[in-house]
Amino acid sequence: MARLPKQVKDAEGRASAASASLATIAQERGIKYFLISYVDLFGGLRAKLVPASAIEEMQKAGAGFAGFATWLDMSPADPDLFAVPDPSSLIQLPWNPEVGWLASDLVMDGKIVEQAPRSVLKAQLARAEALGYEMKSGVECEYFLISADGSAIHDGSDTAAKPCYDQSALMRQYGVIKEICDSMLQLGWGAYQNDHEDANGQFEMNWNYDNALITADRHVFFKYMVKSIAEKHGLRATFMPKPFINLTGSGCHVHVSLWKKGGNAFSDPKGELGVSQLGYHFIGGLIHNADALCALTNPTVNSYKRINAPRTISGATWAPNTVTYTGNNRTHMIRIPDAGRFEFRLADGAANPYLLQAGVLASGLDGIENERDPGKRLDINMYTEGHKVRGAKRLPLNLLDALRALEKSKVLKDSLGTALVDGYLKLKTEEWNAYSRHLTQWEREHTLDI
Ligand code: ADP
Ligand code: MG
Ligand code: MG
Ligand code: MG
Ligand code: MG
Repeated sequence: MARLPKQVKDAEGRASAASASLATIAQERGIKYFLISYVDLFGGLRAKLVPASAIEEMQKAGAGFAGFATWLDMSPADPDLFAVPDPSSLIQLPWNPEVGWLASDLVMDGKIVEQAPRSVLKAQLARAEALGYEMKSGVECEYFLISADGSAIHDGSDTAAKPCYDQSALMRQYGVIKEICDSMLQLGWGAYQNDHEDANGQFEMNWNYDNALITADRHVFFKYMVKSIAEKHGLRATFMPKPFINLTGSGCHVHVSLWKKGGNAFSDPKGELGVSQLGYHFIGGLIHNADALCALTNPTVNSYKRINAPRTISGATWAPNTVTYTGNNRTHMIRIPDAGRFEFRLADGAANPYLLQAGVLASGLDGIENERDPGKRLDINMYTEGHKVRGAKRLPLNLLDALRALEKSKVLKDSLGTALVDGYLKLKTEEWNAYSRHLTQWEREHTLDI
């Protein structure tokens, strides 16, 4: 890689100043094209490929898009949408370094677009900052390697009933896994482990937590990178929550801590399991808002086949069914694996990376501001003993349930904004209606002879 210009502070090239000149960086690093990208409400990654000769102008004015042509709540009559790149998000594609990827903020009529997912997250981070907190998070993005036509898992020999951590199945994908992990190392993300997960054909790769906006940008890029590198190797990668009904689905666990003045504010050696009162209020907020939050963290029809699911072939779904929390136990919605942080296990691979972090933070801040009580920790196997717990709240059973909960949520509307929530509800309800109109084979089998 070319030597980094002065204003670029790390291997990945996160520029120290928002004003860093992309034209200069292009020259110094041999970037010929930039992908000026944004993420729509459904998590879709949209971009224009811009030659370096045009970047100076685009950095100021943004790249133009017709918002209605993507999943944003807009009309074809709306004026152009401009994606103004954030130079601090620059990542040179490790597999094609002449291309520089940029996350952008959306502007229309000279104003920030309030429903833009990245701006929604930035607004929550600013809200936390006003209280003196920075949210740091890590995500675990599980995915399947499948055949290019999407019909089956790629590795026909990956058939064990308990395939988790299977060394041979992992190493048969060494070419793909190594290329992705090498890329993360080169980008300075602090990649530290890769494994075969609980379903046949399923993998997870972990890198270090960071500021929630950095993590969300990396989450977006990670999905793009995994899909691109898999494609290069003749495969397809999917983050679909439940691509195979009898196998464990793909979650996207989020690990969370809040920091104040350089110290972890969730850490308290005297608190239960080493978590502070502030941490428990944050957890209380997630418990209080879980059903509405589900519409963002589990955003597809398919998401509800991962949560609330019967046992998979491996013996457990590893996904929650109830709005409960626990210690180092993977059968609840929230797990406290370690002092000073917790893991939110609800979200899945379809979650919009920005709305995921924004929704978690908005719920947590509600918990802090209202000193919400998370209730009693449950130290039981929720899958087998859950029925013994009276009053444990169930998660929404389908997308419509979750959308209705979001519709009723004053907390999420007030914090994330009605532009986001109303737009999201409108488009997602249309998606639910399209699904409902679809005639399934199951219906025919169960109804034809009635
Ligand atoms: P597990 O599989 O046990 O849930 P992983 O090792 O796969 O855990 O992922 C843990 C994630 O949590 C990583 O991204 C890690 O950097 C992150 N993490 C660790 N400590 C903290 C913390 N204090 N705050 C936020 N995230 C953290
Ligand atoms: Mg045109
Ligand atoms: Mg993990
Ligand atoms: Mg996992
Ligand atoms: Mg986890």
